Amino acid sequence: SGESSEGETYTVGIDTTYPPFEFEEDGEYTGIDIDLINAIADNQGFDIEFSAMDFGGIIPAMQAGQLDVAIAGMSITEDRKEIVDFSDPYFEAGISLVVNEDNNDITSLEDLEGKTVVVKSGTTGADFARENQEEYGFEITQLDDSPAMFQEVSNGNADVLFEDYPVIAYAIAESDLDLKVVGDRLTGDEYGIAVLKGENADLLDQINAGLQELRDSGEYDEILNKYIAE
Ligand code: GLN
Repeated sequence: SGESSEGETYTVGIDTTYPPFEFEEDGEYTGIDIDLINAIADNQGFDIEFSAMDFGGIIPAMQAGQLDVAIAGMSITEDRKEIVDFSDPYFEAGISLVVNEDNNDITSLEDLEGKTVVVKSGTTGADFARENQEEYGFEITQLDDSPAMFQEVSNGNADVLFEDYPVIAYAIAESDLDLKVVGDRLTGDEYGIAVLKGENADLLDQINAGLQELRDSGEYDEILNKYIAE
């Protein structure tokens, strides 16, 4: 690990209402992303301070110089690569179509004519909705966090939501939301850890080295297995 960063403290942006990746339990941040970045910081010899915010605020906060790192179940996208540099991918995800448990009319995008779709601001789900709105003729409502989005469809205030598969599967299993996933995954993508573009090559190298060390030691699998049933 790099001598130069020994003792450095980096501010890490997180979306704390995004289990199993990041959430609060007994006043502590926990989840896959939290454990991964803590373990990377440990093996690379730097310190971190978490800064919790709505997902949509994370990239703007990086641009404003308020964050050094972001780990937030953030999908690696070409658009984001204009602004941030991503680590090696650490998780495979993708968007699912989610409806109320009692809804048997919607099974695919073809059934969304005139329906209301809720998405979370600044996400790949929101982008996907915008890109497909015209073709399928639905309305879009944007909210700031995932739990609010889940409530809207569970309560029957909206018809559909788009969310990353691992997140919605965990929410359905762990809560009493009246939701179900329908159809195949709509997209496939990978999560990466972000640093502000072009200014953090050393930090990014450390993050990648740390991630590789966790994969090699088996700690990566242990962290995943702690939160996600095999
Ligand atoms: N993976 C999605 C994205 O990158 C959602 C992330 C999130 O809501 N925390 O936009």
